[in-house]
Amino acid sequence: MRIYRIAAIPGDGIGTEVVAAGVEALTTCAKRDGGFALAVDHFDWGSERYKKTGAFMPENGRDLIKNHDAILFGSAGAPDVPDHVTLWGLRLAICQPFDQYANVRPTRILPGIVSPLRNVSGPELDWVIVRENSEGEYAGVGGRAHRGLPEEVATDVSIFTRAGVTRVMRFAFALARSRPRKLLTVVTKSNAQRHGMVMWDEIAAEVAAEFPDVMCDKMLVDAMTMRMTLKPQSLDTIVATNLHADILSDLAAALAGSLGIAPTANLNPERNFPSMFEPIHGSAFDIVGKGIANPIGTFWSGVMMLEHLGEPGAAARLMRAIERVTADTSLHTPDLGGNARTADVTRAVCETLAGDNQA
Ligand code: ATP
Repeated sequence: MRIYRIAAIPGDGIGTEVVAAGVEALTTCAKRDGGFALAVDHFDWGSERYKKTGAFMPENGRDLIKNHDAILFGSAGAPDVPDHVTLWGLRLAICQPFDQYANVRPTRILPGIVSPLRNVSGPELDWVIVRENSEGEYAGVGGRAHRGLPEEVATDVSIFTRAGVTRVMRFAFALARSRPRKLLTVVTKSNAQRHGMVMWDEIAAEVAAEFPDVMCDKMLVDAMTMRMTLKPQSLDTIVATNLHADILSDLAAALAGSLGIAPTANLNPERNFPSMFEPIHGSAFDIVGKGIANPIGTFWSGVMMLEHLGEPGAAARLMRAIERVTADTSLHTPDLGGNARTADVTRAVCETLAGDNQA
């Protein structure tokens, strides 16, 4: 029997609720499959730890998880800790050293879920956004001087490297090639940002020559928001910078019905380090402890984890269970307009998995 070591890092807020649900669904999925098992180690890293000890994770934290097969992450963020401190203290402190440079965000309208876009249903919105996840606007380069004085100055410098852009571009083209439509849209802002973004365009054209069977088009990020909203059918795979794709994927999640459904994978495609899977939503402190967090985004992230681990059968089975459950509106949590609770949705997914007789 194959045994995968999973590091579960629930983090803050509803992260603890949805990761517990995710571990339950993944464990049920493994049992139903019979060919593999998950050995899950839990790490209590997050804002509470930061407030007590001054650090989100122990100094040797990355060593503790670097040999795991995958990481299941919840969310990081607390009302009384500045967002940038949390982000750099935990999520980016894992993503960047583990070189998880390809952030993959699938978006679909699942059965039973209504998009805020009029007349748009399942097949018309089926995207995967690839976000450059290691440099760009979130490279962390910049600084502040003359703090508090009238002449105070602050800079955030975007770093685009040929190596960084080329590798994520190749990843996006290969992903587009693996999907039926073989269509990639490269998003930049190369009219206004005339250095890094123009290099993106040039590298996109170079890599396109390696993938002659993939159709490729170019969009400016502002125009892209309109195309996503007005012509969702015209898009399939999308690649964009760290900042642009961050924003576009929140729009994508909203168009697909709820932030609570959207999954993401932070991949180190070379597998030198573990990859990390997480729902795209944050800590959602307005609903924490109420038992109503939607766990579907975490379950779908679990599907991506199983695909990455090389368990496509189990991944497909978990996705089928998710879709059967979302199709039943009595199992919708309040973010989707229903009354169901996290535990109801989790139980329903686990029961559906157990009763799935498909090979
Ligand atoms: P962050 O800055 O950490 O990304 P945020 O404040 O931008 O967080 P979220 O914490 O994701 O955003 O919450 C935005 C809104 O969406 C909140 O009203 C929250 O309750 C809701 N929400 C987010 N995730 C879920 C979920 N899984 N289930 C139900 N509602 C959710």
